[in-house]
Amino acid sequence: MDVAANLDKIRSNIGQACQKSGRNPDEITIIGVTKYVTIERTIETINAGIKNLGENRLEGFLEKYNAISDKASWHFIGTLQSRKVKEIINKVEAVHSLDRLSLAKEMNKRAEHPVDCFVQVNVSGEETKHGLNSDKVLPFIKEVGRFEKVRITGLMTMAPHVDDEDQLRSIFRELASLRTTIRDENLSHAPCEHLSMGMSNDYQIAVEEGATHIRLGSKLVGS
Ligand SMILES: *Cc1c(COP(=O)(O)O)cnc(C)c1O
Repeated sequence: MDVAANLDKIRSNIGQACQKSGRNPDEITIIGVTKYVTIERTIETINAGIKNLGENRLEGFLEKYNAISDKASWHFIGTLQSRKVKEIINKVEAVHSLDRLSLAKEMNKRAEHPVDCFVQVNVSGEETKHGLNSDKVLPFIKEVGRFEKVRITGLMTMAPHVDDEDQLRSIFRELASLRTTIRDENLSHAPCEHLSMGMSNDYQIAVEEGATHIRLGSKLVGS
């Protein structure tokens, strides 16, 4: 399927999810996750109207960025090793995987401008997942306040790959509620308005539960 046809279907599903939940589709940014595909397919994605792209590995990110950097805004969505920070930090719109102080410290050292970060939360508590447990998130964000170039724009989670709608919904709801708690602290470095949640398997539910950034790979660009 071409990306434009996939996108039509996705936008229609987002429209339905917004209608069900009383939201405005303009509040939702679609991040096209291009980690599985070629540069040609990535360009097709941009031409279909997707201006935000996500990569989860340094090599894939640099390959695409070096070829077509100026045509999109770039989101780093994967686990980031501290020693690789300097290679991406001044090239991205946002990092979606902040999960430790040592990473915040390295970002602060290498960034030329304040960088938007999502704190990755392991809501489901699965041992295989990256991210902070929910109860650690607020204390973590308060500590990040000492790194002046790290700005907490929101929270991110990856739900388990299951079909149980209730389970997915409760994970997204917990992340949304945590976001509200942190937003209401009014920390100057942590406006924490955004929710990066929802992938190909579960984005409609994520939108119903308040996602502002959905990260779509296989259903949008293919795998
Ligand atoms: C690969 C990936 C996605 C996209 O996954 P799909 O299920 O193919 O949509 C989203 N977020 C992260 C962090 C990823 O690594």
